[in-house]
Amino acid sequence: MAQGAEPYGVIRDGAIAVKGERIAWVGPAAIGGRLAAAHGIPVRDVEGLWITPGLIDCHTHLVYGGQRVEEFEQRLNGASYADIAQAGGGIQSTVRATRAASFEGLAAAAAARARRLMSEGVTTLEIKSGYGLELAAERRLLEVARGIGRELPVSVRTTFLGLHALPEEFRTARQAFVDRAGNEWLPALAAEGLVDAVDAFCESIAFSPAECRQFLASAARLGVPAHVHAGQLSDMGAAELAAGCRALSADHLEYVSADGARALATAGTVAVMLPGAFYTLRQGDPPPVALLREAGVPLAVATDCNPGTSPCTSLLLAMNMACTLFGLTPHEALAGTTRVAARALGLGSDRGTIEVGKRADLALWRIERPAELSYGMGANSCVGVVYRGNSRT
Ligand SMILES: [Zn+2]
Repeated sequence: MAQGAEPYGVIRDGAIAVKGERIAWVGPAAIGGRLAAAHGIPVRDVEGLWITPGLIDCHTHLVYGGQRVEEFEQRLNGASYADIAQAGGGIQSTVRATRAASFEGLAAAAAARARRLMSEGVTTLEIKSGYGLELAAERRLLEVARGIGRELPVSVRTTFLGLHALPEEFRTARQAFVDRAGNEWLPALAAEGLVDAVDAFCESIAFSPAECRQFLASAARLGVPAHVHAGQLSDMGAAELAAGCRALSADHLEYVSADGARALATAGTVAVMLPGAFYTLRQGDPPPVALLREAGVPLAVATDCNPGTSPCTSLLLAMNMACTLFGLTPHEALAGTTRVAARALGLGSDRGTIEVGKRADLALWRIERPAELSYGMGANSCVGVVYRGNSRT
């Protein structure tokens, strides 16, 4: 999927030269073959396969303790959300399980989930904290995330999701929690090199625009870029907030106004579509994709892998859902998990397309056309991965 005249920028019968971990040359195989022979460069023939940039999952909550399958089963046996919340379920149950889990337990469970994503050609993965909600537990989540990037052949970008939910011990002290997350925990974690970006959940059931603005301002003072969980359940002006902070991305956006869409476009903020959560919550109104498109907002697609609302470890399934539920084209879905997803992580100049100078992260597919990646449900046609110039499988 390099630059070219065809849709997707397809080069048929193409060749890619890799030097070190970078792409050194892209062009027709006939020319590439002659150059390789002249310079004695070894050639790997993958005739019949398609090669795309390695996929990028730009929004996950991959590291957490426990899971929420009991709630899933209880709901389908007739329990209401209120019943479950009263019994201590919901996000607070994941917070308790995460605080109680060992580093090794968190790491093993997260690595298993990361491997499932990687089996589908994922080479870069964003991981948010946000289930610790206290300094030590948040640090441990970010350290586990960093560890996954060290132990497995996948790049990890860490995000300190400082404002995710109000922990029980701060129930009567909201402002104190917001102050502590932004003024104490963020600077400490950033100083330890654990924070590539921050995130805040701006929603009626989470944090207000004013609270999120305060937290994001702390990040801006430290030079840390931002993501915002915006417009998932209601339009509180979170898209405008994200744009005002020049956030890398505004994620969810089921509810966003025309003004919000224009603000995102002007700020260059990516809209990250998260159809897994929309599906799990059986929401009715998809994001206004036509409005976002018309405004010129770049669209990414991610799994939102999390135990409550998107227990999804398939980026290909997220692409399928983005097409079927949200009306993205297969071309947009693939751009949304490569070129645009890279941009959503601030990595647009380094990866996400097959271009000279970019990192040689590639996925090899046994498919007949690129749209097949979004078409299949539960199909994994990935037959190989090149990560930083080396074959991973
Ligand atoms: Zn999320």
